[in-house]
This record gives sequence, C-alpha cells and structure tokens, in this order.
Amino acid sequence: MRRRPLVVANWKMNHTASEARDFAARLRPLLAGMRRAGESTDAQVEIAIAPAFPALESLARALAGAGIALAAQDVHEAVSGAYTGEVSASMLEDLDCRYVLIGHSERRQHGGESDARIAAKLARVADTSLCPILCVGESAAEREAGQLGDVLARQLEAPLSQLSARPARHPAGALVLAYEPIWAIGTGRVATPEIAQAAHAEIRRRLVAGLGAAGESIRILYGGSLKPANAPGLLALPDVDGALVGGASLDPGDFASIVSACRETRLERS
Ligand code: PEP
Repeated sequence: MRRRPLVVANWKMNHTASEARDFAARLRPLLAGMRRAGESTDAQVEIAIAPAFPALESLARALAGAGIALAAQDVHEAVSGAYTGEVSASMLEDLDCRYVLIGHSERRQHGGESDARIAAKLARVADTSLCPILCVGESAAEREAGQLGDVLARQLEAPLSQLSARPARHPAGALVLAYEPIWAIGTGRVATPEIAQAAHAEIRRRLVAGLGAAGESIRILYGGSLKPANAPGLLALPDVDGALVGGASLDPGDFASIVSACRETRLERS
C-alpha cells in the first residue's frame, strides 16, 4: 500500500510569531528548490508545521500558497467553556489547521495526560475537520522490561475502538500515528532502524487487527532525535511513513534536509 509520507515539525515552546515568519521566509526557497519544474507543491511529501499557539496565525499567513499544512500542538476535549488557558478544536479549525498533536509524551509526562483524557480529545477531534496525530511510545524502563507490546496495546486501545465504531470514509485523514520512544525524544539517542522498524510493524499489525484494511492506509511517523544525518536510514524503512521532528525542525535548513531525505526515499521507490 502506498501512503503519502508526512513530515511534521513540532516546535514545542520555541519560536515567537515573528520568528515563525522569518522561518517561513527561509524555508520557502529551500523547499521550492527541491521541486521539479512545474510543481507548485511537493508532490512526494506532505509537510506540516506545529508552532506554539501564538504563532499559528502569523505562520499561516507567511506560508500562504506554499503547500505546507498547519498543525497545532494540543487541543482541549471540550467544545468551549470555562477552561482558562485552553484552546478548542473549533478555534484551530478557524485558523485552517489541518493536524493536531494529541498525547505527546511531554504532555503525558509534564501535563499528567492520561489515556482516558487523550481518548476524550480524540473523540472531540473526530467531530471536526482536524486530523489527529496520536503520539505513542515507551519509556526506557518499559523497553528494558520488554513491555513495548503492552504499552502500545494500552495506548492504542481507545483510539482504535473509537475509529472502528465510527469508520471514516478516508482512514488516512482520520488518524496519523507517531511512534516516539520517550528515551529518544530530545536526547540525541535515536532509535536504530531495527528498533524503529519493529515498533512500526507492531503498530501496523495492531491497526490492521483493529480496523481491517483501513489500518493499512493510516500513516505511522517516527519521532525522536531525527536529524539530517540519521533521517535517510530511518525514512527508508518500509513501515515508516514520515517523521515528527522536534529539535531539528527549529532550523529551516535542517528541516528542509529531512524533507529532502524523505522525498529521495520515495523517488527511489517509484
Ligand atoms: C518530538 O518532541 O516530537 C520530537 C521528536 O523531538 P526531538 O526530535 O527533539 O527528539
């Protein structure tokens, strides 16, 4: 099954609105230089950027016409109401966000987000035009204890039962998964290709077991210390459909190199 690869920048709590504008101005020519004559957007790789909330609008303006989607880093599960400091799905839709990260390990760890809260966020987003990017992955202790399968089973149980209860017309647009081993996030300790491929294959197996053929079309991104140097090896793996990039996405040159590595792997396959 051919899945269009997706490379997503997660800026976390970095880049102000004006820095986001500068970033866009530097990124656009780098991406344009990669395209074949006549292509207005990247035909091989879909690209999205998740800035902090205050930079969403200025980034959207600065990226107009560049064929790069906007993503948010989180969303609240309520439709609206007395939730000081929170952002609703309809606010993100109003800014033309296409994607939203849900269950990032930094929110699970520092924000105390439970699987139940993550399931509620996914249920809310299912009523909107947003596509959730659900982040899953094990800690170092869980990996050492051989618990990867149990962790993935727990993290995927509610999302898969929600999706099978409400089958989407285009499952690829209803959910994206990001496998992000916690021990690799921001640590410089990237997963080996063997570790990443085994985890992605296990996630794919669970998607197909839970959703049937629809599970084949859901994209699974790798995230965790991806850099221009290690991207080609990871992005060429058969079950890796793109990347969620943290630290290396803050620099337009590094981010463009990762997009280019992804593009090259797909051009080699076609
Ligand atoms: C992330 O936070 O989603 C991430 C992948 O971070 P980093 O690339 O910095 O490890």
